[in-house]
Amino acid sequence: ILARGRDLCKRNGLLILSVLSVTVGCLLGFFLRTRRLSPQEISYFQFPGELLMRMLKMLILPLVVSSLMSGLASLDPKTSSRLGILTIAYYLWTTFVAVIVGILMVSIIHPGGAAQKEMTEQSGKPIMSSADALLDLIRNMFPANLVEATFKQYRTKTTPVIKSPKMASEESPPQQILIYGIQEENSSRVQNFALDLTPPPEVVYKSEPDTTEGMNVLGIVIFSATMGIMLGRMGDSGTPLVSFCQCLNESVMKIVAVAVWYFPFGIVFLIAGKILEMDDPTAVRKKLGFYAITVVCGLVVHGLFILPLLYFFITKKNPIVFIRGILQALLIALATSSSSATLPITFKCLLENNHIDRRIARFVLPVGATINMDGTALYEAVAAIFIAQVNNYELDLGQIITISITATAASIGAAGIPQAGLITMVIVLTSVGLPTDDITLIIAVDWALDRFRTMINVLGDALAAGIMAHICRKDFAQDAGTEKLPPCET
Ligand code: ASP
Repeated sequence: ILARGRDLCKRNGLLILSVLSVTVGCLLGFFLRTRRLSPQEISYFQFPGELLMRMLKMLILPLVVSSLMSGLASLDPKTSSRLGILTIAYYLWTTFVAVIVGILMVSIIHPGGAAQKEMTEQSGKPIMSSADALLDLIRNMFPANLVEATFKQYRTKTTPVIKSPKMASEESPPQQILIYGIQEENSSRVQNFALDLTPPPEVVYKSEPDTTEGMNVLGIVIFSATMGIMLGRMGDSGTPLVSFCQCLNESVMKIVAVAVWYFPFGIVFLIAGKILEMDDPTAVRKKLGFYAITVVCGLVVHGLFILPLLYFFITKKNPIVFIRGILQALLIALATSSSSATLPITFKCLLENNHIDRRIARFVLPVGATINMDGTALYEAVAAIFIAQVNNYELDLGQIITISITATAASIGAAGIPQAGLITMVIVLTSVGLPTDDITLIIAVDWALDRFRTMINVLGDALAAGIMAHICRKDFAQDAGTEKLPPCET
């Protein structure tokens, strides 16, 4: 037994360490909350976690560019277009199924049932309109400057413009009622007050295209995929660049293999730091608790039943074995709330543990991390209907269909970064005329739900790679000899 235990630890050492670090991070976070650390102390404490995020983000750009360019260039045009069409169709379909699961869950559990509007305490202002959000999505697909796209993305800026109040005539004095002689309580002093009846200034919102910090992964994916396809068509003259990308890809994966040993340590501080930062959990209202349970139930049904069953029916292979192979990527998704940041680990798990053809992984994973977000789509549908329930707003079938379509589109537009889904929620809410201010209702629990939906996003991408590897196995067996260059592995 000891020998088997040792063998198990040896083979799964990193995974065991990651599970331990999630547990230790939670315990440490809740323990330190009792110590009431100052914001300064918390930010020092979070530093090792910040380093983990930095390492992962550093790897995204070379990984996405090299994997898509070398992956697509090394396939013959027929195979790459078949893989491309199948992958995108699969992604759209599973995302739509996730939305349906979310809608069913929220209709059955009805978390926003008798909730009162009092929950809108932290009311804010709309971040942007739905049309602007859609235009930003398209702008991001075609970045004007590729270098800028590595650190900035397009996001419409909405600024309030205060209009001066309309007066009866320019000369007319401010309208006031004077109230004379009010005596202060417990005092003999008498004070005069004036009530200002001038209408409050009218505030209108002005939108203008702008950029914000953060890599434009969508633009980079589209550019790299197009370059990859073109390189594949160029034949021998494209070989030097394809060869460069393949070596770049291999070397990034080698960096990942070393960096993963730091991750368990970083995870402890990332999770504990977040627990230290969060608001008092008792302040989270009951309805919000039910809403969170609804999202989690939907994610569990989709991630643990629907997707694995789909994998099983298509490949006839055991989904549990497959999921065990990507457990480490799922834990990183839980710790980082970012499917883009998890991408290097998803690659590593799929190639090393699940033995997926690297040419498939190079295409399916980066595209999936950008456009395939089943967890996000499910959450957006639940959140929109929850907000409707809270507002006692009856949704008809047409509106529910609109929510399912826009939630799918909004998840495609969401970047693979923490809480990106919260921003694209505007598209869903405005499509059925729900108040965008009410996004603030769900902010209190979003940091936690984001972690779970990111896990499902990553799971969806990984299972898609497994399914594509099975469906396209014949194409790839025929195509095996046509990969332009052998991988530059030592
Ligand atoms: N955090 C999610 C991801 O990276 C996106 C979101 O739903 O906010 O996949």
